Amino acid sequence: MAPKREISIKDVKVDDSFWNGRIGNAVEKAVPYQWRVLNDQEPGAVPSHAVMNFKICAGLAEGEFGGFRFQDSDLAKWIEAAAYSLLYKDSPEIRAALEEAVSVIEKAQQPDGYLDTYFILEKPEERWRDIAHGHELYCAGHMLEAAVALFQVTGSSRLLTVMEKTVNLIRQVFGEGEGQISSCPGHEEIELALMKAYRATGQEAYKELALYFIENRGAKPGFLEEPGFQNASKNRWFQASYHQAHARIREQETAEGHAVRAMYFFTGAADAALETGDPTLKAALEKLWENVTRRRMYVTGGVGSQGEGECFTIDYDLPNDTCYTETCAAIGLAMWALRMLRLEPKEEYAAIMERALYNNVLSGISQDGEHYFYVNPLLVKPEVARFRRDHQDVEPDRVKWFGCACCPPNITRTLCGLGGYIYTRKGDAIYQHLYIGNTGEFETEKGKARLRCVSSMPWEGKAEIAYSGPAGVEVYLRVPGYGENFRITKAGAPVSFTLSQGYARLCPQDGDAYTLSFDMKAQYLQANPQVLEDCGKACVQRGPLVYCAEEADNGPLLNSFTADLSQPPVLETSPLFGGVTVVKAAGSQIDWEKWPANALYAPAPAPTRPASLTLVPYFLWNNRGAGEMLVWMNAR
Ligand code: ZN
Repeated sequence: MAPKREISIKDVKVDDSFWNGRIGNAVEKAVPYQWRVLNDQEPGAVPSHAVMNFKICAGLAEGEFGGFRFQDSDLAKWIEAAAYSLLYKDSPEIRAALEEAVSVIEKAQQPDGYLDTYFILEKPEERWRDIAHGHELYCAGHMLEAAVALFQVTGSSRLLTVMEKTVNLIRQVFGEGEGQISSCPGHEEIELALMKAYRATGQEAYKELALYFIENRGAKPGFLEEPGFQNASKNRWFQASYHQAHARIREQETAEGHAVRAMYFFTGAADAALETGDPTLKAALEKLWENVTRRRMYVTGGVGSQGEGECFTIDYDLPNDTCYTETCAAIGLAMWALRMLRLEPKEEYAAIMERALYNNVLSGISQDGEHYFYVNPLLVKPEVARFRRDHQDVEPDRVKWFGCACCPPNITRTLCGLGGYIYTRKGDAIYQHLYIGNTGEFETEKGKARLRCVSSMPWEGKAEIAYSGPAGVEVYLRVPGYGENFRITKAGAPVSFTLSQGYARLCPQDGDAYTLSFDMKAQYLQANPQVLEDCGKACVQRGPLVYCAEEADNGPLLNSFTADLSQPPVLETSPLFGGVTVVKAAGSQIDWEKWPANALYAPAPAPTRPASLTLVPYFLWNNRGAGEMLVWMNAR
């Protein structure tokens, strides 16, 4: 079968006033920086060991395995990011680093195709024995994604050849035949990677293995009788549901367990639903989507309410200061949303993808591009975060690297691969979901079509979109739920359009240029009253951006402020961070000068005075040193 033509990462190049700096940081700084970190050459960063582990396996160095058992995945994600970075800067140094990495991986691979440095070096006799926590399939998944990225960007299939061998071995080891292991990965990832490889190469074997793992999750016993699982599962947070293995996917009513695992699983399952056309799988994903986005997601697009188990908890449990909201989980949510859009283009999916990308994902990296958050809280008091046991995962400052470094290369591959999130295609219909400036090229059945977008988002609801290509191609432009008075003009004249699931349908001719615009008000949002921590509070959102208050602008004791909801938030252009739109929230604040001296408690009401808070976009928080930050303000 010929490879299916879809929108390749090579087809869409971002060129956008908001994102260029961030992608530039990723390309110019993060990719070379992370290569040094992975090679243990960056002073001040926690040693990674990732490249060294492969070198030892390859016989190119001597020593012992270092790092976590899933350390290989850090190098894999870096390869993926570095491959995408070549689309923006064809750096000879990065090409050489990629060559070196692939050469080492080729030599590290065992004759039978096995490739996992932890088990090769530490426990060669225990290969495929700890499926629940061994991460062999997870690491293979990331390396397969890296191989597809390298293949798509550079045309080199060297790493893909390596991974084909590994996948063949996995197909021999896992299955329902005699002597095979009936199981599914303890940490999902390879499912979505296999689907990527299938679409890139057209090889059915990739798809079949993905479907086997997806459909077999929740089958008993799977890995539930492994000694490794039994030991870990003594803790209530590490039961079968931690791995989404408590039920088959069609029987899962709610998103359970480790949030990154869940997001990667649902992403792979949505890929599968698209390829098989199975309506029951699609329905299962819609049910889970509704549970996550209506009851278990933070306003920032973060998921995972608890550090222990890095997991979903129960509906409406969204604590702001002890949350986990891992950068990787928000990336996973954006990945899942993109697959749901491929299944069915609905504005709701695009809105959640955008919410995750512009808030929780972007918060994961500093403005300088070299410091990272793992956990992205919505309320921080640094002294508390540094002391309390239940805040132990919360860093009040971004750090240079982590011992468990899943997030930094994940955010780098997301930034360098951002072009992949803008469009989806259904036959000769092109859907634009995000107004990010770019040039996209599409091989339609009618011929080559090209879209060029110049955007003022997220600061202003405006984009210019020019089409060149054959007639008969449909272009669907997202009408954002938050955009009021959405209009499209051509040469100054209004263009009428039909609306389909939140998208404006256009049938452009070659050379057509459209201007679309919509109003974006800064708005107070309130949470469902069942969210304990947000009840009686409000936050500000404008367009895709959620705002927060920081000590740097407002002084300490942010929680002593109460917003007056009858006064709409006011926009202001600020020179901060090279020019951003900030928001002023009016209200009152407890007058600390009149608070009785030395009193812990005093008769109500506390003396107040009129006050206003300056709010900055959430993704920018903690770029001016550690300090208090809050998203949800007291409100009346
Ligand atoms: Zn992570």
